[in-house]
Amino acid sequence: MSKPAIIAPGGRIGILGGGQLGRMLAMAAAELGLNCHIYCPDAEASAMDVASHATRAAYDDADALARFADSVDVVTYEFENVPAETARILAEHAPVRPGVVALATAQDRIVEKNFLSSHNIATAPYADVADEAALLKAVAEIGTPSILKTRRFGYDGKGQAKIASPADALAAYDAIGRAPAILEGFVPFELEISVIVARGIDGEIAAYDPVENIHKDHILDRSFAPARIDKGLADEARAIAAHIVADLDYVGVMGVELFVLREGTAGPRLLVNEIAPRVHNSGHWTQDACHVSQFEQHIRAICGWPLGSPERHCDAVMENLIGDDVDGWAALAAEPATALHLYGKAEARPGRKMGHFTRLYPFGSAPHTIR
Ligand code: AMP
Repeated sequence: MSKPAIIAPGGRIGILGGGQLGRMLAMAAAELGLNCHIYCPDAEASAMDVASHATRAAYDDADALARFADSVDVVTYEFENVPAETARILAEHAPVRPGVVALATAQDRIVEKNFLSSHNIATAPYADVADEAALLKAVAEIGTPSILKTRRFGYDGKGQAKIASPADALAAYDAIGRAPAILEGFVPFELEISVIVARGIDGEIAAYDPVENIHKDHILDRSFAPARIDKGLADEARAIAAHIVADLDYVGVMGVELFVLREGTAGPRLLVNEIAPRVHNSGHWTQDACHVSQFEQHIRAICGWPLGSPERHCDAVMENLIGDDVDGWAALAAEPATALHLYGKAEARPGRKMGHFTRLYPFGSAPHTIR
């Protein structure tokens, strides 16, 4: 493997995954004079519409993976469930950024929580659930309400079941298919926030302002930039995110989701919910409200470029267009201070992310009316 340490304009980036995140990464790369090769098994992959090269093959096709990685200067990915063997094959042919340790940490909720705890980063109380006996012990220890989540392959609330009282434990276990799981104490959070953070090859770190996230049917609905927290807590959230990327020797953009918890008269506390080793839906507002978007930042980081400024030049509210929400595109396009981003997907199935829009506001004037 002979690949340049710094990928100059004209270089090529391989992206595993062909969805909207890959599409927006490829568009940001093009802005910097870099081109992309998308690798994805799906018949419809909207990232392929905006990239110069594409391979449609399975994630376990070793020959296709090797050819793909040989054809690019660096490999990145837009989803965290990249199989370990796929990452290993790719890494033999090109640098994989973020690296395989970050991937392995983020794709298993127990490994992730153990990593966070061992670095003194607070999380919800949790326990490993390998079988029925472990579940009953965990429920006795952690109490209820609690949430049972599959260790792997969970996203947008999939693979999760709430346990309201101990009597619900086995039904919840059945509901997640008795898969290897984690039991988490239910956090009565005041707000959910996230921090988009980037780390460069030389260890430089840039973190965006924390945003406040509202979910609907377990899918991100809106992000408010900035979150309604004071400066001290915002700095603490950014510091936690910086700590995580430094400890993982991470290169690229990461999304860090946190709960803001207020108990009694004590000040608010932050608990990390999960980390995503990729650009993140709650960072889409950065495209329109920041000097450098999370997508450009990720491309800069994995190509060994200096990071750009994460500074925010206005307030913003990002809203997802899910399923047939996208039919409202014409009215949104008519709003003068609204940036519309559509993903070029043909079929607006329920629950499918079809696009998003970001409304921009002068500092201090973003509405926070919808909860
Ligand atoms: P996750 O897939 O872990 O991000 O969970 C999806 C959503 O479920 C989160 O955004 C929260 O709204 C909620 N949730 C997850 N874990 C907990 C928890 N331990 N306590 C309270 N709510 C949670």
